[in-house]
Amino acid sequence: MRTSKPILLFKPTLTLLSKNESQVLEVLVEAGKLIIPIYIAQENHNQLGANFYPKGISKEEIEKAAKKDPKILSPYTVVEKINGKLVAIPYHVKYANLLKPIADKLIEAANITDNKEFARRLLIQAKALLNGSYDEATIAWMKMKPYVLDINIGPVERYDDKLFFTKTSYQAWVGVMDEGATKRARQFRDIILSARKHSLMSSEQVDFYDKVQIRVDDLLLFSGLIARTVFLGVDVPNDPNLMEKYGSEITIFNQANEYRFKHEVLPAFNRIFSVSFKKLFSIRDIELGTLYSTILHELGHVYLRYRDSEKRLRDLFPIIDELSAYVTGLKVGGYLLLKDVTDTKQLESMMVAFLARSFEMVLYEKDNRSKYHYMLGGAIFINYLLESGAIQEKGGVSWPNFTKMFFSLSELAVVLDRILSCGTRADAEVFIKKYGNIKKLQRFK
Ligand SMILES: [Zn+2]
Repeated sequence: MRTSKPILLFKPTLTLLSKNESQVLEVLVEAGKLIIPIYIAQENHNQLGANFYPKGISKEEIEKAAKKDPKILSPYTVVEKINGKLVAIPYHVKYANLLKPIADKLIEAANITDNKEFARRLLIQAKALLNGSYDEATIAWMKMKPYVLDINIGPVERYDDKLFFTKTSYQAWVGVMDEGATKRARQFRDIILSARKHSLMSSEQVDFYDKVQIRVDDLLLFSGLIARTVFLGVDVPNDPNLMEKYGSEITIFNQANEYRFKHEVLPAFNRIFSVSFKKLFSIRDIELGTLYSTILHELGHVYLRYRDSEKRLRDLFPIIDELSAYVTGLKVGGYLLLKDVTDTKQLESMMVAFLARSFEMVLYEKDNRSKYHYMLGGAIFINYLLESGAIQEKGGVSWPNFTKMFFSLSELAVVLDRILSCGTRADAEVFIKKYGNIKKLQRFK
């Protein structure tokens, strides 16, 4: 996998695009492909700090240098040792030669497109790649009215910097809005986030709930880091200050969800669940359940955003946070039931999809370090449901009825929410120890 090029190309059926939009789309895909050599220059799995820092350097040495020059720990610089001294070189300087052709492609697309606002945004994006004005590009993106074509390109995610979780990797995605699924996702968002606002006390009202955009896209391309991670959905910007001021945009990727469904959810569904239980769901139910549980997961993250959880829970934060987003997402699916935009069958399909995925990770993905916190979350989910009696093992896994399942996962959501909102790292550790037993679950193999 690591030796392959960091790019995934998809060929969704796109029937509704105008001739102009199709032409622009082609140029955007070309721009996205040009990210490959930059990401290859950054990527290095033999070092915790990838190629963001000099080879073999210690954490302490970097921290010491960063005290004198904060740019050393900027998300957008490469650190090099020059004449024995650590120097921070901005990405746009370091990769100038590789960035120029990308900016040229974005300018070309801006010149072709009929949509003035999109053209303006592409030009700001091209400029950002060349001079490092990334915030300006993000703000322009947030302010733009949703448009059928979408490109996100530049240094964004921090996952490859395992030394400081600071340096960003280059990536790109190019998508076309799936109008039907987007409409559905917006309906979910409106109901769930307004319910959240009602549940808050007046002193804790946070107005970013009104600025959350959501769309579902058909994918043309993933390149750079995101071609490695294959995220089902993303919520950007990552900077909490920008997020509070300008809101954020959730993008869900159809093709990534289809992949997850086919290769992970469906095989586990077939192996794990009891025959009579499986009969209750069609393949299409589970496929939609996979997509909808991703939408609820992303909304779950928004629902549970607390300012200081990362500081309190430290290294255990991602385990609690990712599981919480899934479980809370399914719980707040209850609001969709109240408003009749979904029914118990569909909500159950989402639960089946997440439970199947949890089993898949716990039983078959043992060696995948980069997904470890998801796997542990999956184990907690299964063990909790088993202990509470929400699920049973009788010729395979099933649940006796929806009410038991819904009540138990709502309980779990409350516990996780408490840890996220006010728990300590020790609280998280005790909880993970109690329910995170992976070995015990191997009997399901
Ligand atoms: Zn997540």
